Amino acid sequence: MRVLVSACLCGCRCTYRGGEHPRTELARLYAGGKVLPVCPEVLGGLPIPRPAAEICGGDGADVLAGRARVVTATGHDVTAAFLLGARRAADIALAAGIRSAVLKARSPSCGCGVIYDGSFSRSTRPGDGVAAALLRARGLRVFSDEEQEIFAREVLADAGD
Ligand code: SF4
Repeated sequence: MRVLVSACLCGCRCTYRGGEHPRTELARLYAGGKVLPVCPEVLGGLPIPRPAAEICGGDGADVLAGRARVVTATGHDVTAAFLLGARRAADIALAAGIRSAVLKARSPSCGCGVIYDGSFSRSTRPGDGVAAALLRARGLRVFSDEEQEIFAREVLADAGD
């Protein structure tokens, strides 16, 4: 098993609203035992459902470096939970020898290359979420679930499908 996947893409109802973002292809790989689902926010101890949160003042790499925070719309600081969940997800990936990850687009944890910008207006900015940034720093290849061409070429090969 060489691919880590955002759990909400595989049918786990772990989003902040208690829902999911199912991707048929990933759910099929999960059913076949070929991908490992994780939810960094739940791994960090946050409940389902939970208040929406966004990175303010930077991106996931900035959060890892202590230059930005993750906050809810009411200003509650959940940075520590996001950092803990990112570390646990990365530890799981490395312990399992996983080389790549398919992660939910724009999430403050899982977003790859583009994330919500901290204004809670659905606007975006360049950057990774906290978990995506740490997985990338630990040497994994990280892809957004919206990168379909890369997914088909790279990730299915890693999953041995
Ligand atoms: S943290 Fe990642 S896996 Fe969990 S609900 Fe958010 S996008 Fe999905």
